[in-house]
Amino acid sequence: MEENFVLSPTRNVDAFSQQNLHSLITEATPLAQSLTSNTPYIAIGRGSSDQIYLGFDVELPDLPLNFSIHAEQFLVVNLTSNQEPKLRDLAISNDGSHCYAPCGHCCQFLQEINKGNEIQTLITEPTGPRFMPLEMLLPQSFSRYSTISDDVPDVLLLRDNGLTLKNSYGVFKEMALAAANRSYAPHSNAPSGVVLCDRGGKMYSGSYLESVADIPSLGPLQAALVNFVIDTGGREFKNIVVAVLVETRSSFPQADTAKMIIQKIAPECSFNAYHAQSS
Ligand SMILES: [Zn+2]
Repeated sequence: MEENFVLSPTRNVDAFSQQNLHSLITEATPLAQSLTSNTPYIAIGRGSSDQIYLGFDVELPDLPLNFSIHAEQFLVVNLTSNQEPKLRDLAISNDGSHCYAPCGHCCQFLQEINKGNEIQTLITEPTGPRFMPLEMLLPQSFSRYSTISDDVPDVLLLRDNGLTLKNSYGVFKEMALAAANRSYAPHSNAPSGVVLCDRGGKMYSGSYLESVADIPSLGPLQAALVNFVIDTGGREFKNIVVAVLVETRSSFPQADTAKMIIQKIAPECSFNAYHAQSS
């Protein structure tokens, strides 16, 4: 396992096979066990660069399970943070000997990443492992294309929402604004971003990633927490002392929920939210 227990983009495996993934799963399992009280599932993805990325289930302490971050969502944030434009192959396992389909929630979430339908998922069937395209696992998915224009960049592709802040000064506001500008929110038109800072002064940002099916959407705070886990290799969320959120004024505000979550998992953390303007 690479530094911070998350595979760096420089590490590679020769073949994305169940056999080769077994040792990776074994290596990653101790971290996965520290992030969740449930059976830990690990998502392993190969990007179009052939580099390998990991995702883990992350429970948020003292909050209901539906606030948890799914391993597949963690993986997508990891890909985004490494500017990986496409997820080619995906495997999900908790022991390396059996690979499962993504959960239904994440099958829908993955539809909106770049070329999502083409993702090859490694599934262990009674006859042995085989790859299936994601569209076979959710053939009648809610389609983003029925509701938004084709020129909206998918998740993993570069975007700039063109948001600005009045009196935008200070590194926290600037970083949260930059995260909001990378946010994917074509259904609500309510992009948002968060920046966190820990006691050591390190900062972690996250962008809201929306799903046409609503519930699978990943909030900006959870996205920033993924980058905190990637960097620290754990969930010592109490070390987070600053949280700043930037969003647009809309009927779908993130601020109250983000504030509730961060104050629950990091009681000493300050929280401030600002409204951005669309240019
Ligand atoms: Zn899932």
